[in-house]
Amino acid sequence: MSVSFSDLNLDKSLLSALEAAGYQSPTPVQAETIPAALDNHDLMASAQTGSGKTAAFLLPTLQKLIQRTTKPGKGPRALVLTPTRELAQQVEKNAREYGKNMPWLRTVTLVGGTSFGQQIRALGRPIDLVVATPGRLMDHMRQGRIDFSRLEVLILDEADRMLDMGFIEDIETIVAATPQDRQTLLFSATWDGLVGKLAQKLTNNPQRIDIARQETQGKIDEQLLYCDDLRHKNRILDHILRDSDIDQAVIFTATKAMTEQLADELYEKGFSANCLHGDMPQGWRNRTLMDLRKGRIKILVATDVAARGIDVPSITHVINYDLPKQAEDYVHRIGRTGRAGRSGLAISFAEVNEYIKVHKIERYLNRKLPEQTIEGMEPTRKRSKPANNKGGRRRSNSSGGKGGWQAEQGRRNGGSGNSNGGHKSYGRGRDGNYSRSGSGNRNGQARSAQAK
Ligand code: AMP
Repeated sequence: MSVSFSDLNLDKSLLSALEAAGYQSPTPVQAETIPAALDNHDLMASAQTGSGKTAAFLLPTLQKLIQRTTKPGKGPRALVLTPTRELAQQVEKNAREYGKNMPWLRTVTLVGGTSFGQQIRALGRPIDLVVATPGRLMDHMRQGRIDFSRLEVLILDEADRMLDMGFIEDIETIVAATPQDRQTLLFSATWDGLVGKLAQKLTNNPQRIDIARQETQGKIDEQLLYCDDLRHKNRILDHILRDSDIDQAVIFTATKAMTEQLADELYEKGFSANCLHGDMPQGWRNRTLMDLRKGRIKILVATDVAARGIDVPSITHVINYDLPKQAEDYVHRIGRTGRAGRSGLAISFAEVNEYIKVHKIERYLNRKLPEQTIEGMEPTRKRSKPANNKGGRRRSNSSGGKGGWQAEQGRRNGGSGNSNGGHKSYGRGRDGNYSRSGSGNRNGQARSAQAK
């Protein structure tokens, strides 16, 4: 029998906010997490991005905040730590949405790249929920601006990623400053290695919740396209961007410089494209994300870190222009599409000499990536074989039948077709500063700077 939100003992004010958000029933991670968290259990939950995990930890936390606290002070009653600024902002946005009928609710996001002034002012008043990245939170803690004595709930979102990013010491310092009797909710894709040890240290008799990815996420079709070299890759990219049913796309590159270079090249070809990476000032990052959300940008060229937390349901395509360095990033990248139960397409380019990288991803996923070729654009170079490859070169389309990519296109519908468009765009000018460029699909001055 399926569970409804009203079965979960959530407060009326939350139920009506969920209704306003258009959520009809809880996702599996919500159905399991909410009752356990409301029962005051510590949790170790494995749920992928796109599974509805944010609401899974925010709803029971907000429900706690509805009860008045008897503890004196003005420090936060709940703290969410996230690996990236974008994810922190997304979490706070969701908290405001679910808490829209709690007018007294005070929330703040403490992330780097933004001015301290507003954050300090927010911390000067009683605060209910802080969403923070570890680095900026530590800055405030060092200045004695945060008192955790009222803290009831500590949440670590994407804990594995925070450790990958080297935040272990910061996390330990932050946790040590919080009360022992807090509730701890941990979310992580894996509990292997350091993150498992950290979880043991931080939680008290935790309940484990493991949610399989496929049940909760919209369907993501995957394709692997081999390319001879960069020129061949760019030709294929151009073909895909022009011919497919793209509504919005995120293209991942390996370096920050490449995000700029590729976004510039696409812009100059008439695509409504912009870049996002960690060296851009936070204001521009926010604006770029806003433009993406509002549909003013169709193609976002991004690095892994900057793209974490992007939750835009109209992203129909993810393109791995460069393969990810770490196999688990593949899962996070493709999770930018297929949001909120919709379907999406994730296309990965691999140069013929990148077989080993592909193999690493396939080992991590424990399955093969479906190989495709585009008619007339097949790779001509021989692929280097891995040591244990008995089967030799596989070129055929796994679905059989007629031409892979074209066949796929025939099956997909919706979207707005060609991504050409003239939109206002943000980017780095020749002077190296980020500035707003003109509109139209002519070559924009500010967009034409090539990355160094
Ligand atoms: P998350 O995994 O938290 O990043 O959420 C993925 C997306 O699913 C977000 O766009 C949420 O707004 C949406 N979402 C979360 N819970 C539900 C639900 N119960 N019904 C419909 N959409 C939801």
